[in-house]
Amino acid sequence: MTTNGLFSESSLGDRLDPAAHLWLVAPGVRTVLDALRPCGGITRFVGGAVRDALIGRPVNEVDFATTLQPEGVLDALQRAGLKGIPTGMAHGTITAVADGKGYEITTLRRDVRTFGRRAEVAFSDDWETDATRRDFTFNALYADEDGTIRDFTEGRRDLARGLVRFIGRAEDRVREDSLRLLRFFRFTAWLGQGEPDPEAVDACRRFSPLLGGLSRERVGHEILKLLAAPDPRSAWALMTACGATARILPVPPTEERWVRLVAAQLAADETFAGRGENLRRTGLLRLTALTPPTPESAQRVTEALRLSRAEGRLVESWGRLAAHLPSGHTAKVFQAALRQALYDEGEEVALGAALLRTAEEGLTLDEVGVREVINGWTSPMFPLNGEDMRKLGWEEGPEMGLVLRAVEAWWRARDFQPTREDCRAEACRFADKT
Ligand code: ATP
Ligand code: MG
Repeated sequence: MTTNGLFSESSLGDRLDPAAHLWLVAPGVRTVLDALRPCGGITRFVGGAVRDALIGRPVNEVDFATTLQPEGVLDALQRAGLKGIPTGMAHGTITAVADGKGYEITTLRRDVRTFGRRAEVAFSDDWETDATRRDFTFNALYADEDGTIRDFTEGRRDLARGLVRFIGRAEDRVREDSLRLLRFFRFTAWLGQGEPDPEAVDACRRFSPLLGGLSRERVGHEILKLLAAPDPRSAWALMTACGATARILPVPPTEERWVRLVAAQLAADETFAGRGENLRRTGLLRLTALTPPTPESAQRVTEALRLSRAEGRLVESWGRLAAHLPSGHTAKVFQAALRQALYDEGEEVALGAALLRTAEEGLTLDEVGVREVINGWTSPMFPLNGEDMRKLGWEEGPEMGLVLRAVEAWWRARDFQPTREDCRAEACRFADKT
């Protein structure tokens, strides 16, 4: 048995101490539990929160499993004056809103039949049955209100040794729901250590053709999460070897560029292991590195993974700008180009493109002084305006706009150094020339 060196089985313990895991007693969590308590039944924490807390990762999203029926949950929330959204009544999921946050509360269930991603479910009050319908052993960990861990599938053991293991036969689980195939690679990227489970890999290889039937949005969501792992290189290589990458990306990925980006981010400790939106942005930049830098490729990837319009624009802008930035080896020239990019496209686009470009050359941001430029940056004001132009004898109109834009381009190309006086003189020179 391999261990990842960080955790041993026993170190994961039998209980999460609420004094150390404050999410267990967060106001919203308490409000939800207090609302459900009068109805009896048992409600426990489940899934990602328990898994991540056990290995010391931050917990942002808290989900509950309960023996209460969905209608009972809705009633209880209503009685407590909380908003309950019937997110997936048929599957027993209700979202409670408390302290400004959403909490998914799902009734214990057993999947009677599954059709692709859909399942016909029966509610149950048996925890072990609920555990076995979940995907991976470490995703079926529950915790009581006081933090006591309930582990029916040896999830802690697998979590400790970094083994992503399907509950039951891998083949059956992947055939029931092919999204699990992508989830396998996603959790391998984040938590995998040592050799991946051969049975799971075999199932993923054989059933990767099923990926074609998934909704593009779900695929996009999983892929961005996978790519945001600090070092997703081996999980990605495994996914490619299993034939899955080619089924989800519409263009041949630019792997070398991507590998360099990940390596540069790791070297500079810049993997921004954030959560939520931040995590998606991290994944998006990595996805851009994998996308050939043409507008057509960016568009095809945007469509295939159903990225938002803003995200699609970002992929396109990052790719385009990265291709235009000069070499990072001449830091001064690079920094001047970066200032122009900041002026034109703002920090998010400029910083992402700088990362892509420098990584391609095996450089880190600090080696090129990128941070220095970005930290000290406030967008300069172009010193010339219509009023100045009128004083110089121009009349309002398209020609004046044209000259203003030409002088602005001149000022920008000189690293924003020319003064108002210089710009006025340039405007006059421009008029003489035309
Ligand atoms: P994170 O929220 O950090 O991405 P998570 O494990 O909480 O990870 P969710 O997608 O929020 O993942 O799902 C919550 C739980 O529901 C999982 O931990 C797992 O137990 C179960 N689950 C989610 N998707 C599936 C699936 N496709 N098949 C079986 N069980 C699933
Ligand atoms: Mg979750």
